[in-house]
Amino acid sequence: MNNKHELIYEGKAKKVFSHDDINKVIIEFKDDATAFNALKKAKFEGKGKLNCLISARIFELLIKNNIPTHFIELKNENTMIAHKINVIPLEIVLRNTAYGSLCQQTTIKPGTTLAKPLIDIYLKNDQLNDPLITRDRIELINILSSEDLDLIIDLTLKINGIMKSFFKNIQLQLVDFKLEFGYDCKKNILLGDEISPDNCRLWDMNQKNDTIVSLDKDRFRNDLGGLIEAYSEINQRINDFI
Ligand code: UDP
Repeated sequence: MNNKHELIYEGKAKKVFSHDDINKVIIEFKDDATAFNALKKAKFEGKGKLNCLISARIFELLIKNNIPTHFIELKNENTMIAHKINVIPLEIVLRNTAYGSLCQQTTIKPGTTLAKPLIDIYLKNDQLNDPLITRDRIELINILSSEDLDLIIDLTLKINGIMKSFFKNIQLQLVDFKLEFGYDCKKNILLGDEISPDNCRLWDMNQKNDTIVSLDKDRFRNDLGGLIEAYSEINQRINDFI
């Protein structure tokens, strides 16, 4: 990045730089991977590029389907230009199939298909370990209005419908995913962050006997190996389909 672009923010997986236009930002995807609130860390060469390319394709798909997102265009393979947003400090998780924390915190067996999508909302706060939060608590701490929360939930359900059928076309089961939203300069709510195997669970549907083959960050979380191979496979299937 050249010097005139100032680093505004550095997160676990991305760096955000200023843009000549004050209402835009430049987002660089890093090769770093973290899990369990950054207790586990590693670097995977090429992960930033793959997540950037996959995210760009998914944002384009969502935009085509009238979902407002921060994505504007790719700048290069690991960098995108986006609308600048004030991120709402909530992580919206939608689950189609039970896995991960849902199965650790309830009696639901991993792999159970949910009768309807489940939305779990977490407070985005590393110091507090991103706790699960209720609607009443969101109202209590004044993060956003009840109308805006409804809008975000409605968008999340629509995004699920679009992504679930898209991934099914390329033989991937969309188990769950995490979204973040924010306000642009005109106070519109836009989908932000990224949509990649770092924040979506994607299982290969080309398997016999219901064997679970994760093509997502669980390869790192659960020490399964082959993370770059899995992310490359997803990128390849998307490109072959589009
Ligand atoms: N997720 C995420 N960031 C987080 C926590 C979860 O992107 O800080 C994603 C995760 O990749 C999965 C979904 O949200 O697709 C649900 O994760 P879960 O709550 O099951 O937590 P985990 O088992 O990953 O700890």
